[in-house]
Amino acid sequence: LFAEPEHLHSVGFSPVRQVMEKMRTLERQGHQVIPFQIGEPDFDTPRCIVEATKQALDAKFTHYAPNRGSVEFRKAIGQLLFQKGLQYDPETEILVTVGGAEAIFDGVFAFLDKGDEVIVPTPSFMNYRNDIAMAGGRFVELPLRAEDSFQINITALKQAITPKTKMLIINNPSNPTGIIFTPDVLKQVAKIAVRYNLIVFSDEIYDEIVYDGTPCVSIATFPGMRERTIVMNGFSKSFAMTGWRVGYLAAPPSVITTMLKVHQYVSTCIPTFIQEGLASSMLSAECQADRRAMVAAFSRKRKLLLEGLSTIPQLRFSVPHGAFYVFVDVSSSGVDGSQFADRLLAERHVAVVPGIGFSPSASRFVRFSFATSEENIREGVERIRRFVGSLA
Ligand code: PLP
Repeated sequence: LFAEPEHLHSVGFSPVRQVMEKMRTLERQGHQVIPFQIGEPDFDTPRCIVEATKQALDAKFTHYAPNRGSVEFRKAIGQLLFQKGLQYDPETEILVTVGGAEAIFDGVFAFLDKGDEVIVPTPSFMNYRNDIAMAGGRFVELPLRAEDSFQINITALKQAITPKTKMLIINNPSNPTGIIFTPDVLKQVAKIAVRYNLIVFSDEIYDEIVYDGTPCVSIATFPGMRERTIVMNGFSKSFAMTGWRVGYLAAPPSVITTMLKVHQYVSTCIPTFIQEGLASSMLSAECQADRRAMVAAFSRKRKLLLEGLSTIPQLRFSVPHGAFYVFVDVSSSGVDGSQFADRLLAERHVAVVPGIGFSPSASRFVRFSFATSEENIREGVERIRRFVGSLA
């Protein structure tokens, strides 16, 4: 009776969740696990957002909001985008979604016909593959190579395009590599998107978590791109609001209208008091200062982890300039990424995510997140050093 339908056959569970479950079992047994698997900021949501949202609840913002999102909230998002060099009309060009996750689903589901191909540079966030499968599309991997510092190889991109290619997904900065695509690479990708008439879905959820002053530009800013790009962003990462579930899409009016068809039946709207709370606080100086402090703290944690890992010769990595991840090649340790992750957790109680969860071709890698305390980072690196030593 409840046999799984065909469109769910290739949909899998998130590898991060699987690691979390094993980690919880160890914690229940009394072990202190170092959480390098984590995919969310280890910071509290800025105080002013919490207070403003409580006030919105007291002021009874508890009814349905418009499907697109409340006008005030969309205006605030429009200003946020403007600060990033992007101009979208809050009335017609912005759609508020239940986190980045719904935004990706809406974008993919709204524009794929059965059999349409979507090129995704990999390793990548797992939602793309699974959402494309649910929409009946075909996920086409464009493997990024550590030798190219995980930048897009333009020749390989051209070769991946077929008459069925409909969309290209760009995640910049990237989960799981932390790499930021250079403006030059993006410019070339943009030219190809224009030449082959592709939709570009641009997941920019980590765009404010960048280091060393590395520029992170939106592909929508290149010539001919605004009309073919769906910009996706959200509050989970850069506002430390993962549990609030707030994301958004920005695109030309007709594109938003099509995605609105999906959104209205998937989720209707996000909680009205959250929209009101954010609209009245997210652009304040206090909120911006909290966010800057978070990025500065991430920068210190990143330095600490990279310094620690670079003292273990069996581990190799490209320096991440954005997000809070490092994608580490562990193959010189004598085991592959999955064995490394499993044994590191079981034997030393350090949780990392096996690279295979982000691409079948990333079996040599594991993903570390530095969204944890400096004390955990120090202790975690020491446990890893001993673990790698035990493999020799
Ligand atoms: N896009 C990327 C690249 C992510 O890493 C994540 C979360 O890990 C999301 C989107 C989804 O974010 P949200 O929690 O807002 O759904």
